[in-house]
Amino acid sequence: MNQDIAYWLGNSLYLNITNKCSNNCYFCFRHYLRGIAGFYLKLKEEPRPERIIEQLKRKMPMRKWEEVVFCGFGEPTMRLNCLLEVTRWIKRHNPNMKVRLNTNGHGYPLNPGRNVAKELKEVGVDAVSVSLNGHDEETYQHVCKPSFKDAYENVLAFIMEAKRANLEVEVTAVRIPEIDISKIQNLALQLGVKFRARDYIPCFY
Ligand code: SF4
Repeated sequence: MNQDIAYWLGNSLYLNITNKCSNNCYFCFRHYLRGIAGFYLKLKEEPRPERIIEQLKRKMPMRKWEEVVFCGFGEPTMRLNCLLEVTRWIKRHNPNMKVRLNTNGHGYPLNPGRNVAKELKEVGVDAVSVSLNGHDEETYQHVCKPSFKDAYENVLAFIMEAKRANLEVEVTAVRIPEIDISKIQNLALQLGVKFRARDYIPCFY
C-alpha cells in the first residue's frame, strides 16, 4: 500500500509529514480510518524532507494549487525542522504559493527553547489554522486528551505569538456536542483573530 505524503482536496495540496500527535482527540479519524478521500495517510515511517520535496516536485505541476497545507494524520510541529525545511524549498521555487500550517497549537511545548511562530514566519509560512477544540481548559482536556499539562494555555499562547509574528491566524473548532462554539468564537474575537467552525471532519482543522 502506498503511503500518501502529498495528497489533495479541492485546490489545496496537503502534506502528511507525521502520524504523531500530542493530542488524542476522541473524534480523531486516525483511530478508525486509514486515510481520507481515497488517500492512504498511515505512515510506516516519517518521510525525510528530501522525500517530501520529491513528491512536491511531481505533484505541484499537476494543477494550479491555491495553497500548500501541512496537515495530515498528526501534528506537523512535532517535526518543526522538517516543516521549516520543506517550506523554505516551496518558497524558493514558488514564492507566490501560499503555505498554511494546520496545527493543534502545541508548537512551543513540543519545541522547548524555540521561537516557533517567528521561525515559521521567517521561512515563509503565511497562515496558521489553530485547532481549539474546547471552550475552556476542562473541556479541552476532556475532548483532546493532551499528553501534557497546561495544553489549553499553551494553545492560547501560540495563537497570540502567531499573531505577534504577523502570521495570518485562524482559530477553528469542530461542531461536537461538548463544545460551545460561540464561546470559542468570542475568544477568537477577543484575541483579534479569525474564527471558523468546522463540521465534524476530523484532522482537517
Ligand atoms: S484530531 Fe488532530 S489534534 Fe486531535 S488527535 Fe487527531 S491529529 Fe491530533
